[in-house]
Amino acid sequence: MGASSFVEEIKSDIPCKVSEEWNIMMENARDYDSDDSYDSAYPNSIAGVGPVKFFESIEIFKKKNEAEEYILNNTDKWGNGMAVRVSIDGKIPRKPSLEKRKKEIEKIEEIKLEMDKIYKTAVDNYKQEIKTKYQENKKLEKPKLILIKCENCRSQINLDYYKNQFHFSTQTIKCFVCKNQFMEAKNAKEYNKIKVKYEKLVDKIKDKPLYHYLCGGWSPC
Ligand SMILES: [Zn+2]
Repeated sequence: MGASSFVEEIKSDIPCKVSEEWNIMMENARDYDSDDSYDSAYPNSIAGVGPVKFFESIEIFKKKNEAEEYILNNTDKWGNGMAVRVSIDGKIPRKPSLEKRKKEIEKIEEIKLEMDKIYKTAVDNYKQEIKTKYQENKKLEKPKLILIKCENCRSQINLDYYKNQFHFSTQTIKCFVCKNQFMEAKNAKEYNKIKVKYEKLVDKIKDKPLYHYLCGGWSPC
């Protein structure tokens, strides 16, 4: 089995945004390059590279080809991908600007962590809640029709459709219409609140990155 390399420049210096964009690219590669959605390897595609790890301790590369060479020399088809910083104009930004930026980014990453935690708890709790509801309903002589409502797109879906997902802790309970994960109204409110805060901070700085990230690695093929 061989390997093919994939490298992309992502025009942001905010790691969680870079990850987000890279993950979307991987998702898209899954959709178009593989007929079998349960295949975990996705050979010969950007999805086969896997998630990228950030290497902030490495100096910012002045040239893109040097950054690319570094990534490809330090990753392999079995491991994750890599993200390194690369200069936008061939120059290294001044130290005070980098320091200031670092603080802004740290703040964003901190809120992102909190946001992800709230999100996970919210979707896990909701899954547990509807699983119990489903099981109790099944015990009835005449089970009722239970509809669950998506807080995001307002669709209502028969709970019976989700019974297979309850057996696996890793399976998510997503709305069939808008593909968002379900969460309780109360949790959704808390989550949306922190999401607004996060997006505000990102919007404030995202248009003026000090450097970009070069992401990539090897995929089996
Ligand atoms: Zn929905």
